[in-house]
Amino acid sequence: MSLKVYIDGELFPQEEAKISVFDHGLLYGDGVFEGIRSYGGKVFKLQEHIDRLYESAKAIALQIPISKEEMMEALYNTLRVNNLKDSYIRLVVTRGVGKLGLEHTKCKKPSIIIITDFIELYPPRLYEVGIDAVTVRTIRNHFEALNPRIKCLNYMNNILAKIESLIAGASEAVMLNAEGYVAECTGENIFVVKHGEIMTPPVNAGILKGITRDTVIELAKRSGIHVMEELFTRYELYTAEECFLTGTAAEIVPVVKIDGRVIGNGKPGKVTQFLLKSYRELTRSPETAEVTTPTV
Ligand code: PMP
Repeated sequence: MSLKVYIDGELFPQEEAKISVFDHGLLYGDGVFEGIRSYGGKVFKLQEHIDRLYESAKAIALQIPISKEEMMEALYNTLRVNNLKDSYIRLVVTRGVGKLGLEHTKCKKPSIIIITDFIELYPPRLYEVGIDAVTVRTIRNHFEALNPRIKCLNYMNNILAKIESLIAGASEAVMLNAEGYVAECTGENIFVVKHGEIMTPPVNAGILKGITRDTVIELAKRSGIHVMEELFTRYELYTAEECFLTGTAAEIVPVVKIDGRVIGNGKPGKVTQFLLKSYRELTRSPETAEVTTPTV
């Protein structure tokens, strides 16, 4: 059975889900998006993802033509039609169709796309052995150029960083900001652990304010683990006892080597493992997921 894709109020079979070549989302990467997960039919942190989507849109002067409630309803309806319980959801709002040229005013109607798909889980081994990362020359977009808080359709900054890491033989890239402080990875936020305390770059380091990041900070604090949102350099990466990445799709991924330096004892550390376990319990717990479930 082919999954259905929502485009502007209609559902299309995957192979017929198409947009115009004149959509500025394609022509210029002009648009915003969210990557969301559902667990057992409940969408995790839906309100937070919807709020971030609308804020990203606001920041690029894009007026989403439907309300947040209608967006949530469309999302749940698409999940239901596709009979998906554990899924990955991609919400996309493009600037819409317009004449060639950068002016956003050339586009009269933004397009809304909702793709719901089976979740492609990362190999379990990745969580058991951790990954290898490198810091890359490509800096994270400067906030005065394109603020990383805007989750926009143009991911070339991240793609260039990813290419660098893959060429270097590592699976992930750690991006620094223009001042040389650690910012984030290509699709995940970064954390280090030392002396049982957690440190992660603050939002004004120029990063996406990750929803998994915020959830992990909350989980850690609730468990009595001290969390600091502070600027730090590669030195703190190299001398960390543990390092992990957070993101909606990957959840929490241990990093065991950075620029050839072994982190801790080269295995996922205790704090990382504890947080991964807590995060999995939270996402799969019916009570917490219920909180963000609207009645549709
Ligand atoms: N940073 C970047 C650049 C991202 O694209 C993402 C999401 N893929 C994240 C961090 C993690 O954000 P979240 O936890 O909200 O998925």
